[in-house]
Amino acid sequence: MQELTHYINGAHVKGTSGRFADVMNPATGEVQAKCPLASKEEMAQAVAHAQAAQPAWAATNPQRRARVLMKLVTLLNRDMDKLAEALSREHGKTLPDAAGDVQRGLEVVEYCIGAPQLLKGEYTDSAGPGIDMYSMRQALGVTAGITPFNFPAMIPMWMFAPAIACGNAFILKPSERDPSVPLMLAELAEEAGLPKGILQVVNGDKEAVDAILHDEIIQSVGFVGSTPIAEYIYATGCANGKRVQCFGGAKNHMIIMPDADMAQAADALVGAGYGAAGERCMAISVAVPVGDETADRLIKELVPRIEKLKVGPYTSGKDVDYGPVVTAQAKANIERLVQTGIDQGAELVVDGRDFKLQGYEDGYFIGPHLFDRATKDMDIYKQEIFGPVLTCVRAQSYEEALGLAMDHEYGNGTAIFTRDGDAARDFANRINIGMVGINVPIPVPLAYHTFGGWKKSVFGDLNQHGPDAFKFYTRTKTVTARWPSGIKEGGEFSIPVME
Ligand code: NAD
Repeated sequence: MQELTHYINGAHVKGTSGRFADVMNPATGEVQAKCPLASKEEMAQAVAHAQAAQPAWAATNPQRRARVLMKLVTLLNRDMDKLAEALSREHGKTLPDAAGDVQRGLEVVEYCIGAPQLLKGEYTDSAGPGIDMYSMRQALGVTAGITPFNFPAMIPMWMFAPAIACGNAFILKPSERDPSVPLMLAELAEEAGLPKGILQVVNGDKEAVDAILHDEIIQSVGFVGSTPIAEYIYATGCANGKRVQCFGGAKNHMIIMPDADMAQAADALVGAGYGAAGERCMAISVAVPVGDETADRLIKELVPRIEKLKVGPYTSGKDVDYGPVVTAQAKANIERLVQTGIDQGAELVVDGRDFKLQGYEDGYFIGPHLFDRATKDMDIYKQEIFGPVLTCVRAQSYEEALGLAMDHEYGNGTAIFTRDGDAARDFANRINIGMVGINVPIPVPLAYHTFGGWKKSVFGDLNQHGPDAFKFYTRTKTVTARWPSGIKEGGEFSIPVME
């Protein structure tokens, strides 16, 4: 049995707490590794190394820091297949999807190469008589991030790339379900020239998270995961005086207008609803066709597409549309919610409950499900299912569809499918959700824009990546300077001549 490590001060370090989490192979249901769960003392060691290394890193010319990220991009591309394979093995997503996970993180590393430009401060000449004013963005010091299982490459990079580009040290506490890729990323960063102690990985569970939240040296905490934990981390971190940003769960609605191209909408829904087994915070989990006729046409287009979906292990390569869910517990929770949908009266149009994959009977595979005629009060509508389950809620008008998305407690992403520019424009303007797609089902902004939801999908002020990340990982200092008159009045600059 492989025993995974932490990555502390430039070395793989065995866990000493005596506590471990099982890392499963979701395709087979077998334990494939043991992940050490750090104690408070192990976290404190990492913090001490980070604190010792950070001042010299912050004092390094930002262009030199950017060169490390430049090299990291090269190394990520070099190791793309290796990273994708390790990611799929622990997460279960398909290989092309795993490569996408690495790629969307890599793009944020690329963006952070622009740090010298992004960190330039502001300057006002002659703000008063003989007074100049300038502001600079300075690193926070030691920063930390806590990441979810569903994007084990992308989300750590969204955090550590801007953090270290700004001159901070960063401690990553990744998900204990798939910790191998984060460890590989830390190794690659060091191969790229990052000094020891600037990027460390401390594996763990609540104990490690609480050690971060109560540590007096750690200045900021970034979190991505489920909403209850996001709320806890935000409240505790803020109470302890830290700068905190937390990104939580989602229930993303896609509105389908009567004039939409129904085949295109159905294709988009199948990819966005079932890709990565629905384990994406930007997955579309609710379809809202406007009008019964639209709904009937949509269901007719959807059903054959869903029935054709290929579910299997990542080792089948491109022949598979999605893989297993991450754990037996996740599978049981999804099955429980599907049962509530049936019990509460939704119509199960595609039933994935009997799905079995020969040779992988112990894997956490779930067949695709489609519910129609669900209503607002049902658990399958209210709760995040995080599985291959698409729920259709019929609306009788555009206003009703808009109201549904607006009233839902989550506000991560949403989409509208229509050919009507006016409807699309109205939707984008009025909706109270952070990321909006117009005929685009998964509107994840690119690295140079920012990523973040609204409502219960976020706690904190600034978004991830883009210019917001440079604000989150720095403090502004503004200097007002007046120099007393000096030599220019006291000295003589022309040849003295006799009066
Ligand atoms: P999770 O909340 O269970 O775990 C996230 C992290 O928190 C992990 O590192 C975990 O070890 C830690 N954690 C778990 N329980 C804890 C506790 N009691 N106290 C302290 N720390 C704890 O989330 P997950 O299952 O890994 O990820 C799926 C969730 O993440 C979904 O809700 C999904 O919507 C959300 N997500 C959101 C975004 C976003 O940007 N909004 C992106 C990806 C995932």
